[in-house]
Amino acid sequence: LEKKIAILEGRIPEKYPDVKYLGYKERKRILVTGGAGFVGSHLVDILMIQGHEVIVVDNFFTGRKRNVEHWFGHRHFEMIHHDIVNPLYVEADEIYHLASPASPPHYMQNPVKTIKTNTLGTINMLGLARRVGAKILIASTSEVYGDPMVHPQPESYWGHVNPIGPRACYDEGKRVAETLAYSYAKQENVSVRVARIFNTYGPRMHVSDGRVVSNFVMQALQNLTITVYGNGKQTRSFCYVSDLVDGLIALMASSYTLPVNLGNPVEHTIEEFAVIIKNLVPGCRSTVATGAAVEDDPQRRRPDITLANTHLKWKPKVSLEEGLQRTIEYFREELSRTTFYNNQTY
Ligand code: UDP
Repeated sequence: LEKKIAILEGRIPEKYPDVKYLGYKERKRILVTGGAGFVGSHLVDILMIQGHEVIVVDNFFTGRKRNVEHWFGHRHFEMIHHDIVNPLYVEADEIYHLASPASPPHYMQNPVKTIKTNTLGTINMLGLARRVGAKILIASTSEVYGDPMVHPQPESYWGHVNPIGPRACYDEGKRVAETLAYSYAKQENVSVRVARIFNTYGPRMHVSDGRVVSNFVMQALQNLTITVYGNGKQTRSFCYVSDLVDGLIALMASSYTLPVNLGNPVEHTIEEFAVIIKNLVPGCRSTVATGAAVEDDPQRRRPDITLANTHLKWKPKVSLEEGLQRTIEYFREELSRTTFYNNQTY
């Protein structure tokens, strides 16, 4: 409660020692699509603490009110239950366009919705940015590189995407979103920023989100078998959510308009990752098992973050161990307050 009051009063909680509190003149009206989601809600926290007025738009397909409920009632905070596939009319100085299912099982479950959100939804947000003269940041993804033939991946790489595979709704959806952004920039003079976000993890990931971090941590905490898909030799590089949010804010503020990779270049195989998580959970008795491979699973992924470093002076600060420890604590609390049936959360 004390922390909640500190947040509501605009005092900076201990958790955010680096946040700069802005004066009245610097205050902006900022729209965050997908603001009740995992990344969106962390971004909203920082923007609110900085003193901005924040409008969250979410259809709650994967986002949750709980992620932002600590801001309910704050005079700078507004939440709209809306699907951006339909037009939206609000005033804003900046738009962070984050709305989209992002976990492979989620977006594969409803590929049509995923494609609509990333195409129609992005057109609506770019149209809004044009009408009100807002700067807009599009959340793109490392998935635009597909199963990459170049390693690590620089922004100049055009990618290797299967246009009709199970991941295509997301990969191609985001590729079109980028194309739309630069088309609006060229034809309509919209000020765009494009962040290519690599694997991100941290508190507020959903326990049944289906991505590797949430799955492995939940399995380790319950002494269940840790399920590695395929032989586990595929690699990923994981960025803690607060680092990503710093990168998004730095990109919005910068004058650099081409796509920028945001991610942590520390790369591990999924097999190594299973062991790292298991070892971070004291007394964990889980075993690690390999299983069937996932179709079109990218085999290697690591961001080249030279551009972000040069233009945004950004690089991740939180180590994998520290980030995972905070994430494990979050999931431990989630477990204690959630009901489980047949290893499924409800
Ligand atoms: N993965 C796994 N076990 C799981 C979930 C995922 O081995 O329970 C693997 C998955 O096949 C992929 C990697 O972990 O190679 C990352 O998957 P995730 O769904 O987190 O994100 P992606 O990077 O594929 O979008």
